[in-house]
Amino acid sequence: MAPAVVSRSEALATGQPRYFTGLACKNGHVGERYTKSKTCCVCGNAASADIKKRNPEKYLASIAEWARNNRDKTASYSRNYRNRNKGLRNLWTMNYRSAKDERMPSWLNDAEQFELECVYTYCAALRRVGLDYHVDHVVPLRGQRVSGLHVPWNLQVIPGRENTRKGNAFNG
Ligand SMILES: [Zn+2]
Repeated sequence: MAPAVVSRSEALATGQPRYFTGLACKNGHVGERYTKSKTCCVCGNAASADIKKRNPEKYLASIAEWARNNRDKTASYSRNYRNRNKGLRNLWTMNYRSAKDERMPSWLNDAEQFELECVYTYCAALRRVGLDYHVDHVVPLRGQRVSGLHVPWNLQVIPGRENTRKGNAFNG
C-alpha cells in the first residue's frame, strides 16, 4: 500500500523527515522522498550503498562528518540505546569475550541464542529496579581446572555479592 500523500511543504511544517507526492522519480520509483534534499529514498539509499562499496573511506568520512555536526542527536541516540539495551549490551560483550576465548560454541541454535538474550535481559531488568544481580557462569569460563561454556545452561542469575565472593572476574 502506498503511503498517504504528504506535500514537501507540509512535511517541512510538521518536521517529518520524508514526504510523498505519489509521482515517480526520474528512475521510476513511486515512493517517499527525503524532505531536506528532495531525493527519492530508493535512489538515495542506492547511491549511499554504492558509495559505501566504491569508496568506503568516503562513506565513513561522511558518517563521521554527520556525527560531528549532530552531536546532540548522537549523544541522545547512544544514551537511549544504552538504557534500552543494557542487558543485550552485556550479552554482546560476553559473547565477544567468549568467542575470543573460544568459550562460545558456534553450534548454538536460534532458540538457545534467544535464551541467552532472555537471561541477560532479565538480569538487566532486575538491576533496573535496583536489585544487585549478575549473570554468572556456573562453571567459570576460565576455571583453574575446567572451563565452562558461554551457553544458556551454564548461566545463573545471582545476587551481586555472591558473584563477587565467587571471585569470578569474568562475568556479565
Ligand atoms: Zn528513485
